[in-house]
Amino acid sequence: MRAMSVDPIVNSLNEAQRRAVTSDADRLLVLAGAGSGKTRVLVHRIAWLIQACHLAPHNILAVTFTNKAAAEMRHRIESLLRAPLGAMWVGTFHGIAHRFLRLHWQEAKLPQNFQILDSDDQLRLVKRVMRGMELDETRWPPKQAQGFINSNKDEGLRPEHIDDYGDIHQKTLVNIYQQYQDACQTGGMVDFAELLLRSHELWLKQPALLQHYRQRFRHVLVDEFQDTNRIQYAWLRMLVGNDNAITIVGDDDQSIYGWRGARVENIRQFGDDFGRAEVVRLEQNYRSTSIILNAANGVITHNSDRLGKNLWTSGAEGDPISVYAGFNEVDEARFIAERIQHALQQGHRRDDIAILYRSNAQSRVLEEALLRAAIPYRIYGGHRFFERAEIKNALAYLRLICHRDDDAAFERVVNTPTRGLGDKSLERIRALARELKIPLWQASLQVLQHRELATKAGNALKGFLALIEQLDQETRGTGLSEQAERVIGASGLIAFHKNEKDDRGEARVENLKELISATREFEISLQQESATLAAFLDHAALEAGETQAGENEDSVQMMTLHAAKGLEFPIVFMAGVEEGLFPSMQSADDPHRMEEERRLCYVGITRAMKNLYITYAESRRIYGSEALHAPSRFIREIPIHLLQEVRASARLTRPMSTFDSGFGGVRERSAAYRGNNGYGGARIQADDSPYQLGRSVRHPKFGDGVIMGCEGQGPNARVRVNFRGEGEKWLVAQYARLEFV
Ligand code: ATP
Ligand code: MG
Repeated sequence: MRAMSVDPIVNSLNEAQRRAVTSDADRLLVLAGAGSGKTRVLVHRIAWLIQACHLAPHNILAVTFTNKAAAEMRHRIESLLRAPLGAMWVGTFHGIAHRFLRLHWQEAKLPQNFQILDSDDQLRLVKRVMRGMELDETRWPPKQAQGFINSNKDEGLRPEHIDDYGDIHQKTLVNIYQQYQDACQTGGMVDFAELLLRSHELWLKQPALLQHYRQRFRHVLVDEFQDTNRIQYAWLRMLVGNDNAITIVGDDDQSIYGWRGARVENIRQFGDDFGRAEVVRLEQNYRSTSIILNAANGVITHNSDRLGKNLWTSGAEGDPISVYAGFNEVDEARFIAERIQHALQQGHRRDDIAILYRSNAQSRVLEEALLRAAIPYRIYGGHRFFERAEIKNALAYLRLICHRDDDAAFERVVNTPTRGLGDKSLERIRALARELKIPLWQASLQVLQHRELATKAGNALKGFLALIEQLDQETRGTGLSEQAERVIGASGLIAFHKNEKDDRGEARVENLKELISATREFEISLQQESATLAAFLDHAALEAGETQAGENEDSVQMMTLHAAKGLEFPIVFMAGVEEGLFPSMQSADDPHRMEEERRLCYVGITRAMKNLYITYAESRRIYGSEALHAPSRFIREIPIHLLQEVRASARLTRPMSTFDSGFGGVRERSAAYRGNNGYGGARIQADDSPYQLGRSVRHPKFGDGVIMGCEGQGPNARVRVNFRGEGEKWLVAQYARLEFV
């Protein structure tokens, strides 16, 4: 009877998986590559513990990486057991620590209704503290202080544990941390990093409580262990103690959060710290075709210092990996949309398809291509480009230039970046606007006229109004992109985000520059004179208003490579696989970061089950400027016989191996290709085309140049021109208004 009831739990497992699931070791490490069934083993082991070992769900704690993964795990166990799990705890580290603190607020010395601070709230509080300390924000960027606080908390350090080496800079940061912590304590507030640190300290200080939980959680199971940081590791160590069991699963080759304090060493150290562990290696991959798997293996072998794994599949060889060289990012996006449409026509669901990219700023062009092709999509774990806070702020400046009476825009940026206008002053302006039924802009003028504000606030407001007026006058008559660049520059937003030292600040600056790129493209896509600021703002509003596909609507999944961890999709596009973007520019001189980028590439490739497309753009306008990029070294690291270069039209494909040398030459090759074959299978540059190679032309904005190439024909032809002052650009013939000279 019992044997029958556990059948479904072990029958669908291979030998090694079964060994892991049914192991009676109380320290078990499952170390295995992507798609080998680690998460599956974890799920089945929990079911096994309940069914075969009669452990109550109540005695199990499972930790995963996202809330979505936790929900999925619970669901899978319940369907294996055909019973609800009620009291079992499954969650993220943060979620579980939060639960502890809610239950034990008194012992943790927190008010019962303590508040969680999200990152923005936290920054606001850091600023308030710094103002109290009279620190100059330009010298002491609040974002940097916030990063300092969080990374120390992630390491388990309180201000008194941090050595300031007598260094004034360090001393000040420690001091901010201390005062911030005091403010949190007084206000009953807890930030994310604090959740873990505080619950760790709670156990340290309350042995009876720790004992209680040690008696409860007899078995702790952790997925994606390679991305645990120091405090999470210490937290687990303490909870498990010497008597409880722990199962961890992980893959050192998928450690991608080093920049946030994750320590892949935790895997190596596990046996030393927790006591001898049984190690099970899973080597069979069930997710991907052998071509995809071999490509992933080919890339990751370029990393040194790996724990080493051997992954194989008995599955089909599958299609070669398609590589597409877009001539720019718009072409790349259009190719992806075209291929998705093709896949949908073949009967694939939209949910089966994912587009993965290195940086959030890449999503805009891809989103536009999907919108144009009317393909519903979702951005997983992020906002759509025009809905991001920094973009909305920049647009608010532009809206005010257009329309002083835009109250929503006024509210958004009157004190962003902060310029010393307090709530009280703003409330006065709002009250007057309400009373006289006038816009906030007008109310501000009146408030100033009647000197109703304190001097500092009055000056700040005056400065803001003058800035908008001045920018309007200065940029009147200039082109849209110049106007946007000037306004965004003068708004102080870039400097504001640049000073944020954490990864998000950098991403926000990139997005702002990307907004300038968007205005340039808008100019190119429209006749220059119709590309006005007002038209662009409408375009942005429409794009932002276009609702994201609903949670359950069948839609193409878009996400960063980081967010794709643990997931799988039949069809995957990896976009922007170029030197300088992926691997990122910042990793170029740092071998450790380069290896982390390579692991990220490994994660990306191994998300694909059946078809993988790798795309890059030969020229890319991103972060506000245009750059020529070489294809990523990661493409070169894939054995060449697994690749095929694809043209935009599905008919024209060639195996990569027909090319003479390695992948390094693909730029030249694809350029040569176009010269003969044309773009998308269309004949290129008919002899009667006016855009003959070497012909001199003049552009109203870019000046004199020489035609370097042309693709396609008719109004949609694209012309590559080398401008004397501006360098090379691709232009759409029908909009470029090129004059022959
Ligand atoms: P990652 O490293 O990406 O997190 P993983 O090692 O956790 O991957 P899983 O997601 O558990 O791998 O499994 C990958 C895929 O292979 C899933 O679709 C899973 O259902 C399937 N799979 C795993 N083991 C088996 C098996 N023994 N039989 C059939 N399918 C399996
Ligand atoms: Mg997994």
